[in-house]
Amino acid sequence: MNERTLSMRLERVAAYVPLGARLADIGSDHGYLPVALMCRGLITTAVAGEVALTPFLAAERTVRDNALGQRISVRLADGLAVIEPGDGVTAVSLCGMGGERIRDILDSGKARLSGDERLILQPNGGEQPLRQWLMDNGYGILCEEVLRENRFNYEIIVAECMEPVRYSAEQLYFGPLNLVQRSPAFLGKWQRMLRLKQRTLANVARAQQPVPEDKVQELAQQIRWITQLLA
Ligand code: SAM
Repeated sequence: MNERTLSMRLERVAAYVPLGARLADIGSDHGYLPVALMCRGLITTAVAGEVALTPFLAAERTVRDNALGQRISVRLADGLAVIEPGDGVTAVSLCGMGGERIRDILDSGKARLSGDERLILQPNGGEQPLRQWLMDNGYGILCEEVLRENRFNYEIIVAECMEPVRYSAEQLYFGPLNLVQRSPAFLGKWQRMLRLKQRTLANVARAQQPVPEDKVQELAQQIRWITQLLA
C-alpha cells in the first residue's frame, strides 16, 4: 500500500469522504488517505494528525514527496487536538484503531467538533461501544459497510449529527444498516464469529477458574442474537 495504491479498506473509507471536503485524518500514520484523496483532486485541504513521532515523520515525508505541503498540514498531537478552528474541517476520519479508542478520541476531543462534520470511522473491533457513543452524542449512522481483506474483517461506520435516534441493543451490536443490508461480507463475518463464540462458551464451561456469571450471560446472549441473525 502507498499513497497511489490504497488498500481496499482505505479505498472504501475514501469513497465516503465528500467531494471537496476539508478533511482531518486522525491517526494518519503514513498519511496515505489524505495524500491519495488530494492527488485525485477529491478534497480541498487536509490535516493529517498523529500522536506518535515515527508515523508523524512518515506522514510529513509522504506529503513532501507529493509536494502537497500547501494543502495538507501534518500535525503532532493527541486525537482531535490537531484540529484548529480556522481549519474549517468538514469531515473527520479515524481508521485502523480499536472502536473503544476511536470513541475515547471523539469523547475527549468533542469540543473540537462543530457538529457539522461527517465522521468516517473504521474501527478494528469495538463497534458496539462506538455506535453507543454516536447515539448518545446526537449522531445518526448514514452508511455502514463490512469488508474482508487479507483474511481480516473490517467495518466502516459513517455518521453525522441528526435528530435523536434510538438504536436497539441488537442494532448497536450488529449495526442498524448492516442488519438491513445483510451483505455477504457481513454474514460471513458473523458466521465466523458464531463459531468463535460457541468455542469460547464451551471453553468457559470447562474452565478451571470460574468465569463471572454476567460475562457468561453476555456471551450466551450474543450467541442467541447471532444464531437468530443467521437463521
Ligand atoms: N489510519 C491509518 C490506516 O487506517 O491505515 C493508520 C492506522 S494505524 C494502525 C493507527 C495510527 O493511529 C497509529 O499511527 C497511531 O500512532 C495513531 N494513533 C493512535 N492513537 C492516536 C491518538 N490518540 N491521536 C492521534 N493518532 C493516534
